[in-house]
Amino acid sequence: MVTEPESMEDLIYFTNRTIEEGKGKIKAWVYKKMCPQCNKAKMGKPVDKGKVKIRAKEYVCPECGFTEEKKEHEESLQLEAKYTCPQCQKEGESTTMYKRKSFMGVPAYVVECQHCSAKIPLTKKMKAVKKK
Ligand SMILES: [Zn+2]
Ligand SMILES: [Zn+2]
Repeated sequence: MVTEPESMEDLIYFTNRTIEEGKGKIKAWVYKKMCPQCNKAKMGKPVDKGKVKIRAKEYVCPECGFTEEKKEHEESLQLEAKYTCPQCQKEGESTTMYKRKSFMGVPAYVVECQHCSAKIPLTKKMKAVKKK
């Protein structure tokens, strides 16, 4: 079963959105992982002079400095979701691997409805605007 997050500080991913123009909705999140090396702190993106390096290719433990490559780290995490399924209209909870798969050609985290097995894709909200 999933545990709803209490604070954004514990998360490396969070989304809350409606599906198919309101036919369903989904809230999904991924908790930070406890450092497997020292077990004292949660791992996150490296911080440089108080700023999180969002585009960093690795995650680090702020306590002991243990580093894990981004892909490896993310694939060891679980995405948890609570939703109202757009297909069967039931409320459900599911978990899936925190890894984008190709869903109809679009990279997405794919949550499966626990009732009817409908696939609920979480695509990137929109293409990142690269200007500025
Ligand atoms: Zn550590
Ligand atoms: Zn369903």
